[in-house]
Amino acid sequence: MDKEIIKLRSEKKKLWKELKREDYFIQGTLVKTYLRCGKSNCRCAKDEKFKHGPKFYLSYKEKGKSKMVYVNANKVDEIQKAIENYKKFKSNVARICEINRSFFQKG
Ligand SMILES: [Zn+2]
Repeated sequence: MDKEIIKLRSEKKKLWKELKREDYFIQGTLVKTYLRCGKSNCRCAKDEKFKHGPKFYLSYKEKGKSKMVYVNANKVDEIQKAIENYKKFKSNVARICEINRSFFQKG
């Protein structure tokens, strides 16, 4: 068998193994914001630097529409990890498709 094919097959195996290691994926980006609470007697009403936060939101797309959901601050690390997992998942799948295509092109 072609050396290159052997190499690509083992690369595919490795990518697939990586995919199976994680099963917690979230698509989107975390947004960090500071907000005014709306109370006129609060110091945040007068000065930017007293805005409340940070508050976190997950921004994502659903059926082409941008959406935001509130994220509890103690979930931020976990969600950030899931977002990274998703990126890795996507890039591994893309690479696997590329490898599969190259097999097909070789005939
Ligand atoms: Zn306030």
